[in-house]
Amino acid sequence: MPELPEVETTRRGLAPHLIGRTVTALDIRQPRLRWPIPRALREKLPGQRIDAIERRAKYLLVHTKAGSAILHLGMSGSLRVLPASTPVGAHDHVDWRLDSGKVLRYTDPRRFGSQLWQAPGKVHPLLAGLGPEPLSDDFDGDSLFLRSRGRSASVKVFLMDQAIVVGVGNIYASEALFAAGIHPGRAAGAVSRERYQRLAAAVKQILAHAIERGGTTLRDFISPDGVPGYFEQELFVYGRTGEPCRVCATPVRASVIGQRSTFHCPRCQR
Ligand SMILES: [Zn+2]
Repeated sequence: MPELPEVETTRRGLAPHLIGRTVTALDIRQPRLRWPIPRALREKLPGQRIDAIERRAKYLLVHTKAGSAILHLGMSGSLRVLPASTPVGAHDHVDWRLDSGKVLRYTDPRRFGSQLWQAPGKVHPLLAGLGPEPLSDDFDGDSLFLRSRGRSASVKVFLMDQAIVVGVGNIYASEALFAAGIHPGRAAGAVSRERYQRLAAAVKQILAHAIERGGTTLRDFISPDGVPGYFEQELFVYGRTGEPCRVCATPVRASVIGQRSTFHCPRCQR
């Protein structure tokens, strides 16, 4: 599933091909994505020049004077800029034709992604109530500490709550908790300020590193037969059940917290 670093890498890969371009027409072969593609997008986007492409959580916002398209990759979606003559595959649901002679092609075998519309000056309900971006200064250990007081839910569930901080998915939550030495099942309200400072720093470091690594796969997003290059992280605990911890050699343990697979080292994480 595309996580925040993959979405940010997609944004960076698409930006030079989209900004300043005009969307001349849309080819919508399958309008039924996670939600139907709204009429407002179909009516307002053609003819518009793309002014900017921004990421908020795992959404891409493509800004024009008439409003903003909100794109989400769901479980299996990808976006590529291709020559308009590139043959269309079974899962290529939407093309935005561009005045450059290329198309922005949305491919999504499972159709859990979305293309929605936000009118100028409005905030789409999906974007309202989102917490701070993890790489921004608004996200830090002090705010995690303050917001966690009195909470008995686990620190991992707390960290994955989009109202607390956006875009920290299961893999990155597991890895950041390992880096900070915090047991994922510990009550959020029972984690000290110092440990939240370590946790916030770990989240930033791990996401920034993943985005940096994504820089080497950018060409995949624009090559006609390129597959989007998701990261093969150097994972410490995620998916490593029974394998030796890379720090202390204790077997990594798997559990289920908040209905999600969770991995931790019983010795390094308390
Ligand atoms: Zn360990």
